[in-house]
Amino acid sequence: MTDKQRNAPARPKTRHSSGVTHVNEPHHDNFVVIGNHLAQHPELSLTAIGLATHIQSLPEGTPIGIKALAAKFRPPSVTPPRPDHLQTCDSCDRAFRSPQLGRCRDCRSSVAVA
Ligand SMILES: [Zn+2]
Repeated sequence: MTDKQRNAPARPKTRHSSGVTHVNEPHHDNFVVIGNHLAQHPELSLTAIGLATHIQSLPEGTPIGIKALAAKFRPPSVTPPRPDHLQTCDSCDRAFRSPQLGRCRDCRSSVAVA
């Protein structure tokens, strides 16, 4: 009789019908231990916890200054759409960008105050 060959780990038996289920696999290298005091910190944002976890995982001496982190984690290149329409102010003839005709920012604010 041959031994059974398993291709995938057996599903853990859970005591709960919902919520998180942990499948714990031992790591022998390339891992970091993060304490729950950081991972579940009640006052840090999810971003701060993720960044701190990332920093904890880096080898000693790795630069973690703002320039190093900014180079590694570039923000998404999403810029708000700019209105392409150049309009001429009805009041002062100054050019301004807006999808609608009307008055420039300065003339609108002076009308609102008056
Ligand atoms: Zn104007």
